[in-house]
Amino acid sequence: MSIARRVRIGALLLILAAVAFGEWRSARSLQQWREPLWVGIYPIAADDSEVTARWIERLEPDTYADVQSWLGRQATALGLGLDTPFKLVAGEPIGSQPPKPPDSGTLAIAAWSLKMRAWSRARLGEQTGPRPDIALYVLYHDAERIAVLPHSLGLTKGRFGIVNAFADPAMQGSNRVVMAHELLHVVGATDKYDPATGLPRFPDGYADPEQTPRYPQKRAEIMGGRVPISASRASVPESLGLAVVGPVSATEIGWVRAP
Ligand SMILES: [Zn+2]
Repeated sequence: MSIARRVRIGALLLILAAVAFGEWRSARSLQQWREPLWVGIYPIAADDSEVTARWIERLEPDTYADVQSWLGRQATALGLGLDTPFKLVAGEPIGSQPPKPPDSGTLAIAAWSLKMRAWSRARLGEQTGPRPDIALYVLYHDAERIAVLPHSLGLTKGRFGIVNAFADPAMQGSNRVVMAHELLHVVGATDKYDPATGLPRFPDGYADPEQTPRYPQKRAEIMGGRVPISASRASVPESLGLAVVGPVSATEIGWVRAP
């Protein structure tokens, strides 16, 4: 291996280590829970469809109130002592698309995350009103044009999430589930499903792991993402009412102390 290549790889490893450390520190700094975290929600049309444009025009300021109150109920049930851990505030729609995340490759993802953070900073600078603690960019898609949404994500470092959602009243419930899932990623929760199959992981990805018989489950653990119907089948919950924050996720985000 040439010296130049060694230096280059060494530098990249250092960057990756710095990114990982930054993620951890960033999550810890968000986990104070003494006052609500302000979450700015910014709608973006992901396509040039009339349906999507009209949807965004007609969004009501209280569109996201259900997500805020569900998070509050979860926190209260877990004994957090702060009944509004997240205050969701509607921001102005954004006219540009965020940089597209790469499909794979740790380095490509690290490079994209830097680009994305710069993009997010620039967009927040254009908004009126105070800067939020966390930014959620919600990309609305016309359901007639796309059957399966691109992956959504939430990153601690940079404090933002990208939520892919349908511009369709029938999909509002599952849109909210995705919003809550990505928001909890931003504050440090990890996925609790098998990336290969999409099936929730037992027991931490289950809302009711003690239930007998185990299947069908009625609810989803929010970071498990789906309601396990059988050992090989799971469905996306139609509303947040069918989802809970499980004990492992609650510990990761600092709502409860590790046992
Ligand atoms: Zn996830």
